[in-house]
This record gives sequence, structure tokens and C-alpha cells, in this order.
Amino acid sequence: MKLKSWKELPEGAIIPGAPNSPEFKTGDWRTERPVINFDKCTHCHLCWLYCPDSSILTENGKIKGVDYDHCKGCGICAEVCPPSIKAITMEKEEV
Ligand code: SF4
Ligand code: SF4
Repeated sequence: MKLKSWKELPEGAIIPGAPNSPEFKTGDWRTERPVINFDKCTHCHLCWLYCPDSSILTENGKIKGVDYDHCKGCGICAEVCPPSIKAITMEKEEV
């Protein structure tokens, strides 16, 4: 992808046409990925509540998985998963 020069950017470098954040695959930055063990998960939704990128996916009131296109791998979900459950482990990304 050819980057624009500063002369081609909109005045003030504003981002026109918001909301467009879903188009940016911020998961590309990740060095570790959260992996949910559904044998342990109680669907308490703490990981969903605390994820800063809305990357914990739910369906019908249950945790369904992780949106790896946008998860940045911060590990907050693994930290807030209750210690007695520890259903999320952070695993190194393959490069
Ligand atoms: S690692 Fe961070 S961004 Fe990814 S799902 Fe967990 S809390 Fe969200
Ligand atoms: S915090 Fe842990 S137990 Fe709770 S929904 Fe998330 S993965 Fe499941």
C-alpha cells in the first residue's frame, strides 16, 4: 500500500467518514494471543467487560471467542478472568 504524503492528507489530519476503526486490523500488532479454554469458562463476562478493544465475542449471552482481527494482545482478559477459573492463557504468536 502506498502511503500518502502529508500534502495529500486532509487539513488537520482529520479522519473523514468515521466510524471506520473496524477497518483497521489492529490485531496485526499482537505478539501474544488470548486463548479461551471453554472447558473452564463460566461465561461470567468479566473478560468481555474489561477488554479495551471490544474483542471478546459473545452470542446468546455466552462467550463465543476472540476477534483476532482487532485484539491487540494486551492480556487484560487473562488478568481479570477469576483466579479460581483461569480460563484464558496468553500464547506467543507465531511469526
Ligand atoms: S488480549 Fe486485550 S485486546 Fe485481546 S481480547 Fe484480551 S483484553 Fe481484549
Ligand atoms: S473472564 Fe474467564 S470465566 Fe469469565 S467469561 Fe471470560 S474466560 Fe470465561
